[in-house]
Amino acid sequence: MSKSLQAIRGMNDILPEQTPLWRYFEGTVARLLDNYGYKQIRMPIVEFTELFKRSIGEVTDIVEKEMYTFEDRNGDSLTLRPEGTAACVRAVLEHGITGGGQVQKLWYIGPMFRHERPQKGRYRQFHQIGLEVFNLDGPDIDAELIIMTWRLWGELGIRDAVKLELNSLGTSESRGRYREALVEYLSARHDKLDEDSQRRLKTNPLRVLDTKNADTQAVLFDAPKMADYLDDESRAHFEGLKARLDAVGIPYVLNPKLVRGLDYYSKTVFEWVTDKLGAQGTVCAGGRYDGLVEQMGGKPTPGVGFAMGIERLVLMLETLEQIPQEISRQVDVYLCAFGEEAELAGLALAERIRDELPNLRLQVNAGAGSFKSQFKKADKSGALYALILGDDEMAQQVVGFKPLRGQGEQQSIAWDALAAHLATCVVQG
Ligand code: ATP
Ligand code: MG
Repeated sequence: MSKSLQAIRGMNDILPEQTPLWRYFEGTVARLLDNYGYKQIRMPIVEFTELFKRSIGEVTDIVEKEMYTFEDRNGDSLTLRPEGTAACVRAVLEHGITGGGQVQKLWYIGPMFRHERPQKGRYRQFHQIGLEVFNLDGPDIDAELIIMTWRLWGELGIRDAVKLELNSLGTSESRGRYREALVEYLSARHDKLDEDSQRRLKTNPLRVLDTKNADTQAVLFDAPKMADYLDDESRAHFEGLKARLDAVGIPYVLNPKLVRGLDYYSKTVFEWVTDKLGAQGTVCAGGRYDGLVEQMGGKPTPGVGFAMGIERLVLMLETLEQIPQEISRQVDVYLCAFGEEAELAGLALAERIRDELPNLRLQVNAGAGSFKSQFKKADKSGALYALILGDDEMAQQVVGFKPLRGQGEQQSIAWDALAAHLATCVVQG
């Protein structure tokens, strides 16, 4: 195929054989968020570039080298969203729905775009489910976010394969004091740092903590710890969070190097990590960002949120073989009709059954065909039962009801009794 007719590198089609698992995952999360009282918000995929520069921070991997930025026909600089928080904050401000201290508990789902090196679990178009809460400043809501994800891992059957890492970045004042101490420490060891970290030391020193370079990591071993610089308020907040996680029985590890890639975090930061996906180990990450709304032109508004990577979680379900059986079957009943008259009667009958059993997954054969070929299609569809309408059945106003997965003999069922019969033998999702 010529190059122009291929998908862009790092941007994937999600094929029909994969979508059931995606929908199961998305449906499970959506139901959970509904049950905890979160409401969905939908933002555009494209925003002014300035929005991301201002919120994510100029000196971050995303803004420095990962954004898909282009000029539109008006000459405006636009960017495909690399994450959802910026647009969500923009939206709540634009519509005034966080004004006067109104609490908003919001979630969103959709594609994000980052020009990274594609590899397993890392793509250029990927999908996130994200969540943001505004105007609640206590550790109780930070805890709720984590408790919800913990429940999700339980429902998905992957709880044993993920680990919660926690840190507190403190308020901007305490972070400022810590930054000074860290810069002093690292500057004295400047020559031992990798090139990226030397640069970050000047532009965004906390990001040095995030380094993957082994030599720099060795230098960091004895570096000052944020925990020793926390102000009383941040310390109490962090203790409050830990107490709540303890109360629910959620294990965590404190990771003083956890700073997160974006500039806007304060106090709580957390990541759910796994060792089942190789290098791309973070499946869900988030934290508190009390200064962001103000930084974007709003009134001071506490905020906290997280985002999870759908590709990575779907990969985990596959790797750990936590794929519920029922999602692989997409057809309950397959109707075969032989001859024109039977086809017309079959169509009408199928609609009657759908009226009575709206959740039944009923597939009507299309493309006619011999008895043998229709039967083959019925079997291949994965259906539990075939319904058969031929000349004999037409004459008696019945259908042949044939179990396809070895649950008994074929029998005849009157048209009028068919819906009731199906209701007893097909468990409807
Ligand atoms: P990483 O350290 O893996 O690059 P990140 O800190 O850049 O992640 P966030 O911006 O916090 O990631 O995004 C939240 C989640 O979205 C990540 O934990 C991950 O699960 C997912 N994610 C981020 N970037 C990608 C990507 N390029 N491809 C697939 N999933 C991604
Ligand atoms: Mg990244």
